Amino acid sequence: MKNKRCGNCGSFEITKNKVEGPFRWKDYPLVYLTSPISLLQCNACGETMRLPGDSEKIDHAVEESLRHYTQFFIAKILERENCKQIELAARLGVSPEYLSSLKAGNRTPSFQTFNFLRTLAMNEGAFQVAAPENATRLAKVG
Ligand SMILES: [Zn+2]
Repeated sequence: MKNKRCGNCGSFEITKNKVEGPFRWKDYPLVYLTSPISLLQCNACGETMRLPGDSEKIDHAVEESLRHYTQFFIAKILERENCKQIELAARLGVSPEYLSSLKAGNRTPSFQTFNFLRTLAMNEGAFQVAAPENATRLAKVG
């Protein structure tokens, strides 16, 4: 890759590297891939350069990773809380059908839903706090 120059820092140290992110994608501020992809990258500043076809490659890898994380979060929550999918759907504010499609890996959630799933999966106790009836309880106290 001689003569190619980094548009960010001007370095000529451009090579094809395995990159796992972070990628900004749709409403996601930062996505890390579950398995890295090959992209041209500046070794001085880390900036990635996109060749024709790279955008589709990145889109595909990002969606695949997000769906994989989403399936993992859902499985973890259902197992730990020993709850039904309908109870999780109620906390997320999504339909049970939509949650099923996420669980099957057929759809990619919005960042908001993804982030909520991550919080519920990573924090024991968050599931109880997020119960719909708790909002009513809180409002009554005030
Ligand atoms: Zn650079």
